Amino acid sequence: MKRKTPKAQKNMNMNVDLSQCDDVACESCGNPTFRQVVMFKKLSAVYSPTGKATMIPLQVFECSECGHVNDEFIPKTGDKAGTNALKNG
Ligand SMILES: [Zn+2]
Repeated sequence: MKRKTPKAQKNMNMNVDLSQCDDVACESCGNPTFRQVVMFKKLSAVYSPTGKATMIPLQVFECSECGHVNDEFIPKTGDKAGTNALKNG
């Protein structure tokens, strides 16, 4: 009879070499520290599954110095890629 050895006991340490990582700095002022803030997207009633306008909270990071939110921090909804082909006539 085989016994399963629990492999979940592995240390989940992320061995990331920080020297291999690029610093992210504010695009506006160059400050390298950020804080988490919430940005809201408003979904118009037309596109809402409930048929009502909805506010969608998005967690983003703003520069702790000037409050600028880097473009790369803003979740893209893929409107450029055209994955959501919502155009029906
Ligand atoms: Zn800044």
